Amino acid sequence: MALPWVRLDANISSHDKVLDLLSRPNGHRAFTLYICALGWSGGQGSDGVIPRLVLPMVHGTPKLADLLVDVGLFEHAEAGAYVIRNWNLRQETSVVREVKRELQKQGARRTNCQRWHGKDCGCWQRPESEAS
Ligand SMILES: [Zn+2]
Repeated sequence: MALPWVRLDANISSHDKVLDLLSRPNGHRAFTLYICALGWSGGQGSDGVIPRLVLPMVHGTPKLADLLVDVGLFEHAEAGAYVIRNWNLRQETSVVREVKRELQKQGARRTNCQRWHGKDCGCWQRPESEAS
């Protein structure tokens, strides 16, 4: 499931990994890749995974991605992909989004049941296929 936006550290401009990155040749280009990769991953619901084939779409190259690995902002993942470090600590994962969505759905079913069937019905607690 896609996110409409992603979270960015409020202190990103003074973060030690970012300062390390920006002090290196092509660091600013790799930083552009990092920000665009954050957005892409959120939009795709990929939980921080950036497939190698996606790099051109997020203004990156394998060399720039490797630079992000060097400073600790990316990690290598399976099949030549990269993964944004600490994604799960900073962003909402697709699992969490699905649980939230399910809870919202249940809440809506309960509200509708109580409105249309009365307080004692309780059909919202039964599986959807059996509900009246
Ligand atoms: Zn009901």
